[in-house]
Amino acid sequence: MANENNATYFRKVLRSSSVAVGYIRTMVSIIYGGNSSKTFLFDEEESCRPDRLFCFRLLFSVGPLRVEFNNPVSLEQIKDENPNVQLGGRFKPKDCEALQKVAIIIPFRKRDEHLKFWLYYLHPILQRQQLEYGVYVINQDGDETFNRAKLLNVGYQESLKDKDYNCFVFSDVDLIPMDDRNTYKCFSQPRHLSVSMDKFGFRLPYNQYFGGVSSMSKGQYLKINGFPNNYWGWGGEDDDIYNRLASKGMTISRPSGDIGKCRMIRHNRDKQNDPNPQRYQHPCETMNKDGINSLSYKLMSVEKLDLFTKITVDVGKP
Ligand code: BGC
Repeated sequence: MANENNATYFRKVLRSSSVAVGYIRTMVSIIYGGNSSKTFLFDEEESCRPDRLFCFRLLFSVGPLRVEFNNPVSLEQIKDENPNVQLGGRFKPKDCEALQKVAIIIPFRKRDEHLKFWLYYLHPILQRQQLEYGVYVINQDGDETFNRAKLLNVGYQESLKDKDYNCFVFSDVDLIPMDDRNTYKCFSQPRHLSVSMDKFGFRLPYNQYFGGVSSMSKGQYLKINGFPNNYWGWGGEDDDIYNRLASKGMTISRPSGDIGKCRMIRHNRDKQNDPNPQRYQHPCETMNKDGINSLSYKLMSVEKLDLFTKITVDVGKP
């Protein structure tokens, strides 16, 4: 009984906090002349509804995290430690309404050890961030040259067959955030999340850098016709995506350097991912014809595993 009363009280406090947050959002957006849903969430996001109890991330975040890759982790261990993650790597907060439905897309080939570290660190973080999310590992079939951006397009398209996601996080498999306040969600502008990587001395290598981990709402992604399908091998596709966004008048939003810290799992570059000699060419005029509207691939398999959904595709060759 006492517990029930406590729980009811806690829910009431949470409900009033979310009403208060909604009120503050509305007031600030009135002051700044915007529409509340557009200012704080993103284009097609729902507006604030005080009758629902929204998830409140700050109650759960820890802050800076210790991230290391010395001891291997097993899928069984990760599964045991994350009992609330559902088949296919899906999660939904139980007691509140997540503000966004996020598909996390990971381009992949033969990096199982890295993927285990990613799942080990990210599942707990994403749950603390109170997101409704699903993890989609897009596995390039065969041994042809790797095509990161095309795999990301496949992830966008395939994840939407599963659920009506409104936000997409695109993450390399070897990048782990070092602070759980770096929320893996979407913002009013496309977001670059891997702001200070250890490999670059915890600094942004250049202002336009958009590689590693980024997020975009469905509307932002569609505005640029998704990503280019013709970058084979390492490099260039992230710069092309940046150019697409800039040419559509969007700017990049980022967390602070401290909160945006992340670690990369050290490895040698894969044989089929040599630097792309054409990585410095970013013809803007291709945006309208090369992207999600021209995407073609062969779906080989969809496996709903305990901690992620593995989608294997043949994306062709250069
Ligand atoms: C490449 C990008 C890469 C960046 C940082 C650039 O030269 O074109 O794809 O992300 O270097 O390594």
